[in-house]
Amino acid sequence: MKIEVEKLVLGMVSTNVYLVFYNGNCLIIDPSDEAERIIDCIEERKAKPLAILFTHGHFDHIMAAPALVKKYGIKIYAGEADRQLLEDSNLNLSRRFLGEDFTLEADEYVKGGDELRFEDLKFKVLYTPGHTVGSISFYTEDLADNEAFKKAAFTGDTLFAGSVGRVDLPTGNEDTMKRTLNEVIKKLPPDTAVFPGHGAATTIEREIMHNPYLR
Ligand SMILES: [Zn+2]
Repeated sequence: MKIEVEKLVLGMVSTNVYLVFYNGNCLIIDPSDEAERIIDCIEERKAKPLAILFTHGHFDHIMAAPALVKKYGIKIYAGEADRQLLEDSNLNLSRRFLGEDFTLEADEYVKGGDELRFEDLKFKVLYTPGHTVGSISFYTEDLADNEAFKKAAFTGDTLFAGSVGRVDLPTGNEDTMKRTLNEVIKKLPPDTAVFPGHGAATTIEREIMHNPYLR
């Protein structure tokens, strides 16, 4: 499988929106905001969107989803324990940051260990709580023909290059984050490319060497 990952940085807190293109298809990960820019990018490639995936329920990862659902009629996948965030504007922080109540419903709620298949691309759902109680990461090692990397993880606000997500927001928990980092993130293969919810891409190997939170 060859995939191409395009990153758009959108919305009021510069969230990474990932468009994963393969075989004429496209997956949309964390559509933060500015749906028209996401749509432009998909249309430019003449790709067929298959699904929307949320790494977690914070407002800055989900707000363009309704417009994309309306345009393409595709399903939203989210972690089951973050359903409460999607449905509650205090928990998803839209009330605090935007002064308005933004809520939505996903179509499919998934949990750690689930395997998702979108045409030829398979993702394993990793349960990675700590930033929020229902944070998940999407992992694939289905990329033998890919040149830049063979394995990839979309980690949302769990792991960043050189840092990790905040644990002081509603449903966040420091001990849980530590457990996620030790028991899930550090156990990923070192050559896994990491695509975080904010900032630059990295690899598991680089983070194990340089990220103070993974010591
Ligand atoms: Zn977040």
